[in-house]
Amino acid sequence: MIIDANTETRTQRYRGVSYTRPIDAAKEAVPVIDLADRLCGAGGLRRIGQEWVGRCPLPDHEDRSPSFTVNPEKNVWFCHGCLRGGDVVELARLAWGYDEREAHLAAALLLLEFGHEVPQRPPAWFRKQERQRHTRVAVEETKKNIVRRRLFKHLILPLLNAIEDEEEHSRELERAWSEFQRLMT
Ligand SMILES: [Zn+2]
Repeated sequence: MIIDANTETRTQRYRGVSYTRPIDAAKEAVPVIDLADRLCGAGGLRRIGQEWVGRCPLPDHEDRSPSFTVNPEKNVWFCHGCLRGGDVVELARLAWGYDEREAHLAAALLLLEFGHEVPQRPPAWFRKQERQRHTRVAVEETKKNIVRRRLFKHLILPLLNAIEDEEEHSRELERAWSEFQRLMT
């Protein structure tokens, strides 16, 4: 297990800032060496100069000679065997078999794996959702009202039309409409 002072400060810095995207948050919160260490297993990485070297942990690369390198200083990894490299999210993505469009999922999993919270969607996103929800509710309500009026017209009005007295007709109409609405809600 490799623990350096950087891990601690990185984590603290991350906690103080609210990130809106899991990819940014994961890059900030999880040092590439921590993930590499976990993927390569105990004693899987050896220090050579500035770098840590081991067998490539990516599932589609059967690495016989240690080709996988991590540079903790630059916080990047590179494999000289399969010629892939990048940041911590890229390593997680390839190691756990997510495709390129799913990098945010790999990032979210990475955060969870290392005990960090996955950032929430920004408040603007929730506000937009809320606005859309209100619109949907309003549209549904309008549809219901149209159906209600249509049914009333076809089912109830013909019955009331039999009432000749105008006053009685409007009184019955009012009563029928309010009863009908109660029925329909
Ligand atoms: Zn490789």
